[in-house]
Amino acid sequence: MPIYEYECQQCEAVSGFLVMKKEDQKKIACLRCGSKKMSKVISRVTYHRSEGDRLNEFDTQKPPGEEFYKDSRNIGLWAKKRAKELGADLGPQFDEIVENARTGKILKKYGL
Ligand SMILES: [Zn+2]
Repeated sequence: MPIYEYECQQCEAVSGFLVMKKEDQKKIACLRCGSKKMSKVISRVTYHRSEGDRLNEFDTQKPPGEEFYKDSRNIGLWAKKRAKELGADLGPQFDEIVENARTGKILKKYGL
């Protein structure tokens, strides 16, 4: 079943919706406040592994492929690992960006 999670931009509640066809997307509205400003969250079910496991799988010497960008949380993890390798302290702002990427907030930016 294609159930997608959407996060409300207004109250940040996450609601799951069954999306079978394009038209279904228009009906998506926050279950808590009714806002239609929703951005897609990639299902958490698929990502039950620890961050450490995921970090270990990344090869930062290779440019990430198309699949990689489909989950924006990968971008955050990748950036984090790369920064660690470079010994860079990117500060609290970077953490915020990574956190946004990890929670899927950046998906909207990429039009997904
Ligand atoms: Zn809401």
